[in-house]
Amino acid sequence: AAKDQGAGNFRIFDRMMADHVAARRQLDLGLRAALRERRFVLYFQPVISGLDGSTIGFEALLRWFDPERGMISPADFIPVAEETGLIVELGGWVLEQACREAMGWPLPLRVSVNVSARQFHAGDLYARVEDALRQSGLPPQRLELEITESVLLQETPALRQTFEALQALGVAVALDDFGIGYSSLAYLRRFPVDRVKIDRSFVKDMHADNDDARIVSSLIVLSHILGMEVTAEGVETEEQQQLLQRAGCDALQGYLISRPLAAAVVPIWLRRQPRGAPHA
Ligand code: C2E
Ligand code: MG
Ligand code: MG
Ligand code: MG
Repeated sequence: AAKDQGAGNFRIFDRMMADHVAARRQLDLGLRAALRERRFVLYFQPVISGLDGSTIGFEALLRWFDPERGMISPADFIPVAEETGLIVELGGWVLEQACREAMGWPLPLRVSVNVSARQFHAGDLYARVEDALRQSGLPPQRLELEITESVLLQETPALRQTFEALQALGVAVALDDFGIGYSSLAYLRRFPVDRVKIDRSFVKDMHADNDDARIVSSLIVLSHILGMEVTAEGVETEEQQQLLQRAGCDALQGYLISRPLAAAVVPIWLRRQPRGAPHA
């Protein structure tokens, strides 16, 4: 009987796997169609100065509008696009589109673009960045690429070459979701980045004088010693904003400041500048 039950469990597992594979395949086909039919849209979330509250740039965030399912979150489709390799093409579109949009802004602010490990290792990232800059006319200094630790996990000569070539071009590199990996510091010594973005899981539980607040303050001090600027992501409350400003955080991003905005709303947001220095 135990053996029968085991076989039954295995059939259920098999079935779940088949459903999973079918769902992935569905999603992959949907993504390819969406890319052809231009159903992807970039939203832009403001990043403000921790010093005076002025807008210093925007992070481009990908959105997929499906006619049947509505808006699909990148958390649900980016992992699939990474697995199938479609992220290389999709990411190329994001780069071009982000540079083009930024060229249309009324102020010469920075645009930050998320780049997956797969794009970095595809070998043509540098060429794609150069193309996006040339086609749009955006100065390299206005572009920042956001990478995660996973990019730096596979340390190859090609990775180092791409990394150094991008920095020589004047494009900035930011380490996203900083603090959640366990050996970020080791990577930072080998791949000096311009900026770290403190993951919102740290920011979320910051309160005056608790451990998370102390961890974030220490990360800021450490980053400054290593010559990097710091952006805090996921700022949702006035208390978090004040603690971060007191800790010397260079830049703030989060729902308290603004949700990601449709491209057409960016000029309206900028017209409302200056939004008055936030009280430190
Ligand atoms: P991320 O790069 O860490 O982006 C920040 C995410 O946090 C965004 O989610 C943003 O909307 C959300 N967020 C911002 N402020 C707050 C806040 O105050 N509270 C909370 N709870 N969330 C906040 P989103 O747009 O859903 O993107 C999720 C992730 O998908 C991104 O995380 C990034 O890893 C990935 N992603 C988005 N666009 C792209 C893209 O064009 N290419 C690649 N490779 N990945 C992308
Ligand atoms: Mg990011
Ligand atoms: Mg992040
Ligand atoms: Mg994140």
